[in-house]
Amino acid sequence: MSDGGHLFATLPARTKALQEHAEGITKENSNMSHTETVVTASQDENPLAKYMPKPQVSYPDIPLRHAGFLKKVYVQTWGCQMNVADTERMLSLLGRMNYRPTEVVEEADFILLNTCHIREKARHKVVSRLGELRALKERKPDTLLGVSGCVAQAEAKALAKEAPFVDVIFGPDQIEELPTLVEQALLRPVVKTEFNSNGYSIPVDVIPPYFDETKQEVSKFINIVKGCNNFCTFCVVPYTRGREKSRVSAEVVAEAAYFASRGVKEIVLLGQNVNSYGLDLAGENHKKVTPEALGSLPFAELLYEVAAVPGVERIRFTTSNPHDFTPQLARAFEQLPELCDAFHLPVQSGSDRILDRMNRQYTRAEYLERVGWIRAVRPEMAFSTDIIVGFPGETDEDFEDTLSLVREMQYAFIYAFKYSPRRGTPATRFKEQVPESVKDARLQTLLELQKKETERQNAQEIGQVRNVLVLYKNKKEANAWYGRTFQGRLVKVHSTEVLLGQTLPVKISGANVTALEGSPV
Ligand code: SF4
Repeated sequence: MSDGGHLFATLPARTKALQEHAEGITKENSNMSHTETVVTASQDENPLAKYMPKPQVSYPDIPLRHAGFLKKVYVQTWGCQMNVADTERMLSLLGRMNYRPTEVVEEADFILLNTCHIREKARHKVVSRLGELRALKERKPDTLLGVSGCVAQAEAKALAKEAPFVDVIFGPDQIEELPTLVEQALLRPVVKTEFNSNGYSIPVDVIPPYFDETKQEVSKFINIVKGCNNFCTFCVVPYTRGREKSRVSAEVVAEAAYFASRGVKEIVLLGQNVNSYGLDLAGENHKKVTPEALGSLPFAELLYEVAAVPGVERIRFTTSNPHDFTPQLARAFEQLPELCDAFHLPVQSGSDRILDRMNRQYTRAEYLERVGWIRAVRPEMAFSTDIIVGFPGETDEDFEDTLSLVREMQYAFIYAFKYSPRRGTPATRFKEQVPESVKDARLQTLLELQKKETERQNAQEIGQVRNVLVLYKNKKEANAWYGRTFQGRLVKVHSTEVLLGQTLPVKISGANVTALEGSPV
């Protein structure tokens, strides 16, 4: 079979060719032992082996002598870390279909846009990008073009109408079906976005997680829960990612062990709402129960399990929420030295009136109470947060409440946004929309306030010796590396040694608003 020549054949010929292709591969499949490509270390020499169940063959594989079958996939990812982790999962799945990642869009056989829907601008970006890619597809008609992620989930019909040249549109719940969707899209355009009611699983024992050996990654994201039941009035996530669905802890631990066995030192657990992890698994038919009713916080228990994986030195997680937040989480910080002193806890506003209009389900006092639980056991904790300014109805007094909360919290850094109406969310229908100019002014004021605080905290680091986990080489400067302190502060480390993956004491000699600087002691 040549390099995909069959894609230019007529449909019946195409179907026939693909059937032959599939049959050829299944024949290949029967005499391939899959484990050789997945788990290298044997059970007894690898302390992590007990965490990783033996993988079964799931997708066909092709020996290199058939390298002509190797295809190229180009993925463009927008949005949050969960989208980044989803992209890696898709690369793993496509890897089993002999797609290899490329960063050159022109040479791709499959172009995939993994999209974000968090801001109005995001959707426009996708549509204009598709416009650019249309020309490329006209030049190379056999190139597959796909859209995934939250814009695909929320706007599939509009996209399919606006961009009929797109071959496959699928939502975050269809990721594990990607190989099948790609095979179908070779025959006809495919749109698949229904929410999957069977829970959330990324079977890493079948298809191992994506790990780029060339990059020698030191820190890896692991998705643990997706979706959200909170319905904040400004947010699209409950509509684009569905209800909260958690992965079983054994799967998460197996993935952490897989990464640790490849030298990864830091695990970052991801979810739109990590505190609610496992509460859907505890209820009947994935019906969520409260930590109070359960008498425990499954998220805290998961932290203990991941911390017990040999080789895992540091654990961070995002995004947390004052909701489903119990003292057990503080106890985990008291007992688990692997948990970093970096805690991202979005507050969104400092005004109870606005928190209520946002349906955030906590008050300013309750937010500060949870912060107090953590600071009681970890006084060094570096908190960060998300804040929206200009939410409909926000008065100068409400905004002043936000500023006073920021002063009181002394955040290490904040992500601040102007309220952006999101189609289909309740807040778009609220009266008292705040003028753009007022939003701009408030955002400026807030960012200036926080900039001073971040500069103050970073300046205080000068002269200190901090344990830094070195994450990657500085591409622009020789003998310079980047890593993070235990508080999550970025540090440029000067050294002629190869420091990748090491945790070492660094004397901080310089600081600015974005990073610290120093040399090993
Ligand atoms: S908790 Fe977060 S993800 Fe959930 S609806 Fe609110 S803002 Fe969106």
